[in-house]
Amino acid sequence: MRYRLLLILLWLPMMLLAQAPKKVTLQVLGSGGPELTDKRASASYLVWIDDKSRFLVDFGGGASLRFEESGAKVEDLDAVLLTHLHIDHTSDLPALIKGAFFSDRKRDLPIYGPEGNDVMPATSGFVFRLFESGKGAWEYMGDFLDGRAAFALKPNDIPESRSPLTLFSENNVSVEAVSVHHGPIPAVAYRINVGKRSITFSGDMNGSYHTLEALAKGTDILVMHNAVPKGATGIAAQLHMTPKTIGEIAAAANPKILILSHRMMRTIGKELETIAEIRKYYKGKIKFADDGNRFLAL
Ligand SMILES: [Zn+2]
Repeated sequence: MRYRLLLILLWLPMMLLAQAPKKVTLQVLGSGGPELTDKRASASYLVWIDDKSRFLVDFGGGASLRFEESGAKVEDLDAVLLTHLHIDHTSDLPALIKGAFFSDRKRDLPIYGPEGNDVMPATSGFVFRLFESGKGAWEYMGDFLDGRAAFALKPNDIPESRSPLTLFSENNVSVEAVSVHHGPIPAVAYRINVGKRSITFSGDMNGSYHTLEALAKGTDILVMHNAVPKGATGIAAQLHMTPKTIGEIAAAANPKILILSHRMMRTIGKELETIAEIRKYYKGKIKFADDGNRFLAL
C-alpha cells in the first residue's frame, strides 16, 4: 500500500511536467529575400521549444551563419521544412548538412517540401540532385542518402492540397501544411503546433488560392512575406502578396501577432505605407522582422 502511494506520488509530478505548457519561440534567422543589397540573410526561421532548436523553416543564403549565432544545435532539429525550392529559401541547406557531419547527430533528419512540377523538381529529387552518389553536385556527401553516414536525410514530398494536411503529430507537437500560390512554383505554407501554442509561416505566395486563412486561423504568430509594396502589379504580384492581401488574410486568420519578413529593397523604407494599408483590414499587432529577432508565442 505504501509502495503504491509512493508510485502515485512520483507519477503525478511527472504527468504534470509532461503536460506543462511549453515555451515556444520564433527566431528569425533571415528576414531578407534574394537581393545582395538588403544586408539581411535570405529567408529562414527557427522554432524553439523550450531551450531546444526543433524546427527550421527554409534555409536561404546567410542562414547558416545566423543559425550559429542563435546558439541552435543541429542535433536538436526534428525536421527541416522547405516552403519551396527557390535559391533564397534553400541555398544554405548543403552548409547545414556538411556542418552536421561535425556534430553528434545520430537521428535521421526529415526534410519536407512540395512535390514537383514541370518547372521544379520534387523536394526528394532536389535533395538527390544535390548529394546522390555518382550524380549529385556534391556526390561526396552521398553517404547521407544511403545510410552510411551517422544519420540519413529523409526527404518527403508534400502533395498539392488546398486543405491543410497533417505531416506528423507526436508528443503534443504537430506540423501541418497547405499549398499556396507562388506563380508557377510549387509552394506550401506551414503551421507548427505545440500544445495550444502555434506559429504559422506563409512562405512566398500571392494569396490567390485562399488557403492560408484556414491554416493560420487563430494562430499565435503568423509570419507573412512583405516582398512587394502597395500597388505592385505584373510578375511581382503574381508571385507575392501585396500589403492589401496581407491585411485581408491576417484579418481572416486573426493571429495574436503578425510578423512581416522577406523584406526587399522595394519594400524597405515603405513600412509606414505598408502598415497603413494592412491596418485597413487587420487591427492586431504587427512587427517587421530583422535577423536574429525572437518572438515568444503567447
Ligand atoms: Zn523568396
